[in-house]
Amino acid sequence: MTRVFSHPDPAITHLVLNRLEQLGVDAVIQGEANGRGMGEVPPIAAWSEVWVADGASLADVEAAVAEVTAEPEAPPASWTCPTCDEVVGGQFNVCWACGTFAPDAA
Ligand SMILES: [Zn+2]
Repeated sequence: MTRVFSHPDPAITHLVLNRLEQLGVDAVIQGEANGRGMGEVPPIAAWSEVWVADGASLADVEAAVAEVTAEPEAPPASWTCPTCDEVVGGQFNVCWACGTFAPDAA
């Protein structure tokens, strides 16, 4: 087994575990604070850990961890057309009413 992820919040490690299981990766949680019987782990090191079976796909592991730990994407801010004052959704960079480009469109 290989430890691939650890986090002080068991909810996060469980999210990683669930995602790994969806990807077909054989994974387990270890080191939970209430998980007595795990043996030699002192309380100060009681971060919840995700371990995967040897031979698990590291790409899958990285994808699962990245997915769970990614910041949620903020929706793009809407903008007001300088030509016709139409409020345009942030996912558009051209005014749908008059075709003017957003002032600071990248
Ligand atoms: Zn416009």
